[in-house]
Amino acid sequence: MNDRDAALQAADHCVKCGLCLPYCPTYRLYADEADSPRGRIALADGLLRGMLAPDATLREHLERCLLCRACEVHCPSGVKFSRIIDAARNELGPRQTVPSLDRPLARLGLALARNLPLPGSRARLARALTGGGSAPASGHYPPPGTPRSRLGLLTGCVTGTQQAGALHAAIRLLNALGHEVVIPPAATCCGALAAHHGDPATAARQADALRKAFANLDGMVAIASGCALQLHETLPELGPEDLVTRLARELPESSLRFAPVDARVALHAPCTLANGLRRGDDLPRLMGCLPDTDWRPLGQPGDCCGAAGMHLLTQRAQAERLRQSLLDQLLRERPALLLTSNIGCALHLAEGARAHGLEIEVLHPVELLARQLEQA
Ligand code: SF4
Ligand code: SF4
Repeated sequence: MNDRDAALQAADHCVKCGLCLPYCPTYRLYADEADSPRGRIALADGLLRGMLAPDATLREHLERCLLCRACEVHCPSGVKFSRIIDAARNELGPRQTVPSLDRPLARLGLALARNLPLPGSRARLARALTGGGSAPASGHYPPPGTPRSRLGLLTGCVTGTQQAGALHAAIRLLNALGHEVVIPPAATCCGALAAHHGDPATAARQADALRKAFANLDGMVAIASGCALQLHETLPELGPEDLVTRLARELPESSLRFAPVDARVALHAPCTLANGLRRGDDLPRLMGCLPDTDWRPLGQPGDCCGAAGMHLLTQRAQAERLRQSLLDQLLRERPALLLTSNIGCALHLAEGARAHGLEIEVLHPVELLARQLEQA
């Protein structure tokens, strides 16, 4: 069955009950049926059957979708909404005014790495995270003693330049747990940006490259939950896992010990982790490894911050409106640290915090864990 037919079959499962509507961030924002899951399913169905024209209005409603999957979590009929929206976006194709839709975020990272000038919002995003440095080189990173497994580590297209510290921290913790870490050469983008923005051919090419690069390993981990979700759906044969999930399973059982954090911590659970992978509980479990630490959830787990893949670049106004309640909470509670496990969320929230004059360090959870790891 091709993607279009699979999407139409998924759309047929929608009984139009509307139970998903209160959970949809864009429906809550616009109060418009066309910006709800049920409305978008009807629009996508009409488009894929050739009964609706691919005009600007239809494109706008389909493109505003965050693919946060809150609707999937709450749908009693188990409608695979993401499959429907991806097929509809493939039918529409990438937006003409933004060529190479799979690469703007990667370009942002590249431009930063090469000290190239960036326009407006991209420049602010590029400066948002401060703990970059250089990404670890491709190669093998052995643990002390005999490795218990060989795990591939996806460096990612943006993470490598914007969150290199998290990659080094991941290696340190995985080595401490006895895993050899392998970073294959030329293994970068997971394909999520292309897959969700109407460019399935690029997404398939990127998946093929990863399939070859990560063959013959005992598993692979991604530090961004958006990448982990994409790998989970496209390359399950490689045994991909979100790093948070891996560590939440292994760290509490290990002999590793961590020092408490002497600062208030806000913990953000990205929708890709909470709704997509349905592993939102792994983050609090991981925080349980840090004794006597004052951490609080930021917003509701799985409530989208608005970053949503490339929305932080292409849907700026909507992205900023969805982010505001989280920034308001940060302004009220004034934590010193904000942890989130997806690079897009980290960039978007850090940029907003900076714009509001908040002094807050935005980290991947693994960076804080590596910082607090006590030497045996
Ligand atoms: S997607 Fe699910 S919850 Fe939403 S209207 Fe359709 S059947 Fe109901
Ligand atoms: S994926 Fe998120 S934004 Fe899109 S329709 Fe579902 S709940 Fe709404």
